[in-house]
Amino acid sequence: MESTSCLLCGSAESNVIFRNSRDKYFQKFEHLKGKDSVLVMCARCGFAYHNPKLSQEETERIYKVLYRPEVPGARFLEEKRKAMLSHLQFIEAHLDLSPAGKRVLDVGCSEGTFLSLFRERTRWEVYGVEPSETFGRYARETLKLPVAQGFFSDDVFQGLKFDVVTCLAVLEHLHDPIEVLMAIRERMTEDGHLFVLLPNVLKPRGNLRFTLLDSTHLFIFTPDTARRLLAKAGFRVIGMDASRPAHLRAIARRCPFDELRAEAEADGRMDDYREVRRILRRHQIRWYLTAEWKEQVQRTVLAMFGDSTGERIVGLLKRCYAALR
Ligand SMILES: [Zn+2]
Repeated sequence: MESTSCLLCGSAESNVIFRNSRDKYFQKFEHLKGKDSVLVMCARCGFAYHNPKLSQEETERIYKVLYRPEVPGARFLEEKRKAMLSHLQFIEAHLDLSPAGKRVLDVGCSEGTFLSLFRERTRWEVYGVEPSETFGRYARETLKLPVAQGFFSDDVFQGLKFDVVTCLAVLEHLHDPIEVLMAIRERMTEDGHLFVLLPNVLKPRGNLRFTLLDSTHLFIFTPDTARRLLAKAGFRVIGMDASRPAHLRAIARRCPFDELRAEAEADGRMDDYREVRRILRRHQIRWYLTAEWKEQVQRTVLAMFGDSTGERIVGLLKRCYAALR
């Protein structure tokens, strides 16, 4: 673990907004067992991030070995195909993918479903990079995709330039997403486009403690902070969809840095601050509405008040739970 400052504005001033005592990835490391993961919000610009955050070595170990230990199953693949088709249709709505012979690179391509669909629907060359050994092998051997094992680096598919680069649920896991995006930008054609899928805290889904707020999500985005991240790395957003639960998706065009300077420097804003606080606070209340907690409460009430009074209280509690949801 290492302490860090705000990736977007550089400020070291922050406030704790969420503590997670059940971080599933902390359980996988001896030295982190029993510790809380801590989400903070930048006091200057409102960006939310984990501090301290997992070190480069810890994250690499997670993605190479721990994250995807088994080959993908049939049900996983079916769900994945539906989701990926929707993302590809979003890209098609913004970019003309009909010319043949262009290239797409999917960074963190997982088992390759997205690239496989891209290959079916276009006449493009498709390439991928994937750190997970099991999923990377599946993409190469089962789907016959050219997928490099490991993380994106300058020498991956050396000599090739890409017309589109995609990063689906990847940037929030990277130690320094701006550095990686700038390196990706160097490998894109002049008029290249980037597609990103990022967790959107303003549209939370499920029990955040186990999804959005685990320690592998080093950064938590909103539409505004996603735009700022992309502008800092040299991309201008030309289309964004933040209406769906859990993730926002955006298409950005490679852009000269001087055109983006004003946007990248607009980091004194706190537009999302209140909304993010409100969502996380509400989530902490919701935690007490989970089935596990409710069962504990009901058992205690029955033990304290006996069957008939206890049942009446449990009935009342159930109505309260239903009203709070
Ligand atoms: Zn900041």
